[in-house]
Amino acid sequence: MKRIDKAYINGEFSALNGNEIFDLINPSNNQKIGEVVLGDEMDTQKAIAAAKDAFKTFSRTTIEERIAILEKLQKAVESRETDLIETMILEYGGTRQFCTASFQNMVSGFSSMIETLRHFQFTRKAGNTQVQMTPVGVVGIITPWNSSNGFICNKFATAVAAGCTVVVKPSEMSALQTQVILECFHDAGLPKGIFNLVNGLGNVVGSEMVKSADIAKISFTGSTQTGKMIAKGAVDSMKRVTLELGGKSPNIILDDADLSKVIPQAVFGAYMNSGQACIAPTRLLVPRSKIGEVNEIAKAAAMQVVVGNPTNEETNVGPMVSEKQYQRVQNYIRIGVEEGAELLIGGIGKPEGFETGNFVKATIFTNVQNNMRIAQEEIFGPVLSIIPYHDEEEAIAIANDTAYGLAAYISSSDENRALKVASQIEAGRVCINGFKHDPLAPFGGFKQSGIGREFGEYGLEEYLEAKSVLV
Ligand code: NAD
Repeated sequence: MKRIDKAYINGEFSALNGNEIFDLINPSNNQKIGEVVLGDEMDTQKAIAAAKDAFKTFSRTTIEERIAILEKLQKAVESRETDLIETMILEYGGTRQFCTASFQNMVSGFSSMIETLRHFQFTRKAGNTQVQMTPVGVVGIITPWNSSNGFICNKFATAVAAGCTVVVKPSEMSALQTQVILECFHDAGLPKGIFNLVNGLGNVVGSEMVKSADIAKISFTGSTQTGKMIAKGAVDSMKRVTLELGGKSPNIILDDADLSKVIPQAVFGAYMNSGQACIAPTRLLVPRSKIGEVNEIAKAAAMQVVVGNPTNEETNVGPMVSEKQYQRVQNYIRIGVEEGAELLIGGIGKPEGFETGNFVKATIFTNVQNNMRIAQEEIFGPVLSIIPYHDEEEAIAIANDTAYGLAAYISSSDENRALKVASQIEAGRVCINGFKHDPLAPFGGFKQSGIGREFGEYGLEEYLEAKSVLV
């Protein structure tokens, strides 16, 4: 059993002032696998002070020096592939398929920032003025439990590229994974104080970071509810914020798409990361005239979905991260039934043989109306809603009729038609004919899915301030 009882401050694993213990539970069987000692306000302030001090010199490093650091970080992460994947599977129940993809995102967080730095213009011209893009300062990074290390790698890589130093607060549920990535960064031999980390609770360590006048920016990934609290708290010190929040992404199947191909993809896609993904296409919009055929194919596809042990290569849906998350998903399934949506497959309760873990049946509701709670609220579990539409115009209206705007998906045999529809969709990322990720393209949300963009040069801009120098 592992015990994590140190913060990482100024290049050292250092003893904590905080002494509260948080148990780490394997969601596949609800057995305790470790514990983490939680940091407190004093630990957070120490980490912020170290980052502030290191910023003085790190902000003046050259592009070549930053690229060299990013290369070392990438290599260090690559060298711990197995440990990184296995701890993710153990700690939050991510499937082997998803955790392997997530590991690749950790690596590409560094490689794509190296590529971005090679052509990025830090000094520009506007009118007769020189514009210097300067690092914003100390960045506070706050991450959720799903793909926690992927977010840490991408945000830290962007900070290094910009010349910023960081204080990180990961989800308390991710302490084992965090420890491995921390060891990678330590072994890479970073300049002291550019990366600092305190495990702890959101309302203790997180809110101390948000309050601190010595942190210039918060880069947050997590729920819309917490994002709103952070944005409010950031106002007092006029902090910059990048908020990557929740989603309820539409998947529009146009009437010319090959249903036998796209519907199974849509079902498996909705269950990515066991449904615990902000970009999961959880609303499947299909032509009303084809709903019978869609239901048949979707049900058959869901019967092929393997729910179970996340360590097995063939598993598509593992357990929910916690008992609380399991209960939340059950509650939404209950709400869907009460609202009058038609349960096509799955439903309340655990799949047979998986009673000790937080497993949910692969569930599909059909004939869902877009104003139902199961179509409007983020469930964060393997629950797909099939929503019929009359024509293309109505499909677009339904797609946009949500508070969120993170991702959207369109399937059509006519790419130009799909591109036209994409231009009318309110979402930060639209994927046409499949699920795609480009670590150089901007990623972020419209509406309540967030503020700001991550990845590539758009992401880098967010860690910089434009300074006009008029001679
Ligand atoms: P969460 O909002 O509960 O927690 C996220 C982080 O915020 C945790 O580290 C938590 O400790 C911290 N936190 C909580 N209260 C805080 C406070 N008052 N001040 C500062 N920090 C605080 O989210 P979660 O349950 O860990 O993650 C799931 C959510 O994350 C989902 O809503 C999902 O859509 C979202 N998410 C978004 C993206 C994206 O890129 N847009 C990616 C992954 C997950």
